Amino acid sequence: MWNFLNIKTLAVMSLNTIKSRLRGAVPNDNTSVDIKPVIKRTRRAHLTIEDEKVYKVEVKVEPNKRIKEEIQKISTEEINKSESWTPANFNTIYDNIKTMRTWVEAPVDTMEGNTAEKPKGPNERFLVLFSLMISSRTKDTLNISKMKELKAKGLSLQYVLNKSVDELAQEIKPVNYYNNKAKFIKKTAEILAEKFNGDIPKTIEELKSLPGVGPKMSYLCLQSAWNITAGIGVDTHVHRLSNLFKWVRKPTKDPEDTRKDLQSWLPIELWDELNHHLVGFGQTICSPYKPRCEECLNNKICPGAFKYRTKKSKETP
Ligand code: SF4
Repeated sequence: MWNFLNIKTLAVMSLNTIKSRLRGAVPNDNTSVDIKPVIKRTRRAHLTIEDEKVYKVEVKVEPNKRIKEEIQKISTEEINKSESWTPANFNTIYDNIKTMRTWVEAPVDTMEGNTAEKPKGPNERFLVLFSLMISSRTKDTLNISKMKELKAKGLSLQYVLNKSVDELAQEIKPVNYYNNKAKFIKKTAEILAEKFNGDIPKTIEELKSLPGVGPKMSYLCLQSAWNITAGIGVDTHVHRLSNLFKWVRKPTKDPEDTRKDLQSWLPIELWDELNHHLVGFGQTICSPYKPRCEECLNNKICPGAFKYRTKKSKETP
């Protein structure tokens, strides 16, 4: 008679890693390996962990030293790699940033969906998505004034549906790439009306399927519109500052890589606020071309302090 064991291991690793590492360690047909994503309940909402996050591995096997050792080994390796690594300077720098964020209001503080009042209905959620769609490569101050102007005209999903692409382009002008953005917004509005009952979708995958909506926008939108934390919204400021402070294991070129690295060690409770603090800090104190290092509380520990770009020096933090 087989003497089965239940070995439950919580491991931080990708699903593919688990599968490939267990392959070969599974001794025979009497062994079943069951790998399920863990659904975590956060303060605000259910959160479905993505592939690279936490998986519960249940392995039912005949007592077998080899597989037990293998599971123990990969758990230890992955947890060491992913969970225990925290940048030594994180707490000090982050606390200082939070202090500096109280000094002055940043444009991000008044952007759609970022005020204390969260969206309550489909139209408010649409405004969050619309604001994000016109925001890329556009100054936040211009985004805010454009949203104010369009809201005064009655901006809504129906408002967009009633406009032609050319009319929309004229409406959002002079935000950068207004012609392309108008095409994406118009197409997105049609999809929302047809497939999502006039509301915006509630999952990352569905948001990413909309024209002109990428990962960064999806995570920010889900957070601001639905109050669901599914990942860190990594925009240009979060990407730049995370690399500047060496909060990623090795320099990243792609914001998606930055997001994955940050999510591997940053406590989930901080995923939502990190974007808000870093974006505001990047807009007010640590701008890319003229950071105010003299008054920055981090100027003694920041790797980029006083290295900003001048006419004499091309170096930029
Ligand atoms: S580059 Fe300057 S302003 Fe930016 S965090 Fe470092 S010390 Fe502060």
